Amino acid sequence: RSQKCTARKILLEFQEACYTPLARLRQVVDAMAVEMHAGLVSEGGSKLKMLPTYIDRLPDGHERGLYYAVDLGGTNFRVLRVQLGGLEGRVIKQEYEEVAIPPELMLGTSEQLFDFIAKELVSFVAREGQDFRLHAGQNREIGFTFSFPVKQTAVNSGTLLQWTKGFKVNDAVGEDVVAALQRGIERRGYKMRIAALVNDTVGTLAGGRYWNNDVMIGVILGTGTNACYVERAEAVSKWAGDIPKSGEMVINMEWGNFWSSHLPRTYVDESLDNESLNPGEYGFEKMISGMYLGDCVRRVLVRMAQEACIFGTPVPHKLLEAFSLMTPDMSKMHHDDSSDLKVVAEVLKRVYGIQNTTVGIRKIVVAVCDTVCQRGARLAAAGIVGILKKIGRDGSAANGVIKRNTFEQSDMNGFHDEVPVHYTSGGRTVVAMDGGLYEHYTKFRNYMQEAVVELLGEGSKNVVIELSKDGSGIGAALLAASHAEYV
Ligand code: ADP
Ligand code: MG
Repeated sequence: RSQKCTARKILLEFQEACYTPLARLRQVVDAMAVEMHAGLVSEGGSKLKMLPTYIDRLPDGHERGLYYAVDLGGTNFRVLRVQLGGLEGRVIKQEYEEVAIPPELMLGTSEQLFDFIAKELVSFVAREGQDFRLHAGQNREIGFTFSFPVKQTAVNSGTLLQWTKGFKVNDAVGEDVVAALQRGIERRGYKMRIAALVNDTVGTLAGGRYWNNDVMIGVILGTGTNACYVERAEAVSKWAGDIPKSGEMVINMEWGNFWSSHLPRTYVDESLDNESLNPGEYGFEKMISGMYLGDCVRRVLVRMAQEACIFGTPVPHKLLEAFSLMTPDMSKMHHDDSSDLKVVAEVLKRVYGIQNTTVGIRKIVVAVCDTVCQRGARLAAAGIVGILKKIGRDGSAANGVIKRNTFEQSDMNGFHDEVPVHYTSGGRTVVAMDGGLYEHYTKFRNYMQEAVVELLGEGSKNVVIELSKDGSGIGAALLAASHAEYV
């Protein structure tokens, strides 16, 4: 009895610390918009890197021919080929393959990692069937989706700024990742051209835009989390290059590194951060994304196990192991709708060897999952609304009236867009979304959608979040097509 009582107290305290009422979410929205502005003004102006991607035109359906994409994400590696048939034919045929990244390569050398990618790519190319056709005399052109922060120097080159999501291949930091992959391909005696280096958010944006002109934002909720969007090139004050003809530039926000004092940080976030491979960095990502949510839950359970002995004594050994509770298992427990929570019991037994939990204790476990999930989802929603606000599409310009955004904070003066970019008929804005967390974690998705509606009110009718499954791979191939040497 007193066990449950102490556990409940820990739960309540944690829930309170994670609480994200509307007023708090609005502060996060505003902070996001402010930081976006600061990051665009100067290099290092914000924790938001706001990286120019050198992508100034997005696919529009005219693309033709055979293109490849390789996608190095956080958990899986994919290769893909697509035969494009222009406006009439669109995507004539596509094929892809997915392999898990061998864990040792995530902590090895750059040469090992890129050699692995090249090997998988080359063997996939070797199995290209008759239905896929290159233009005569064309080399295979590749879109390289690389979902880590990169400082680009051209559409097809860029150096790795730092690793995230559990990768630590030290000698790759500062290296041109396109050149590294190119070397790997050449070592295997193949000749291909990497036409575009693409963040996964940008791939998702491009893949969405190919079908729908209202797509302005790309978001990833997978192992990690990030977002990109279409910005007016003139708003990118730190951009020293020419203003592109389109007047636009896609910006990779690296929003995983966003930070604000308004974020509900708890002891769980502190210890998780301290024990992570990139302490002090990517704090937003650590509250939201699939790599970390399960571990947030685990840390609360550890406290309950230690202080309230909810899993008996001694504390199950494996529970103390970082990242032992994966987000898919958290999600399973969270969605358990059986009256005696037998799925929770099953997961606790399978993962930790914990047996004989009471239904009361299982309920507490579910409540912890719910708290962590809800906080992450609501913060992700606030991030999206922050972008909408920055580009004047948060509904304050609804009904065709183009007006200035009004902000209360004085420190926000002077940065809002006077005219929303790309103001389209009906003012619809589509967010192209990809990632396993959003795709598979139903309660996360629902909490996020709810929070968007809370934040935007009526304006939410003009905002659509669209799952663009595997959009990032196809998007990279589309960008390779629009930036191909041979056109
Ligand atoms: P990546 O981000 O590595 O490119 P994905 O977009 O496929 O890969 O996302 C994989 C991540 O999605 C996993 O690391 C996991 O955190 C999360 N995920 C996958 N399946 C589920 C699930 N059923 N419930 C919750 N999260 C899931
Ligand atoms: Mg991915």
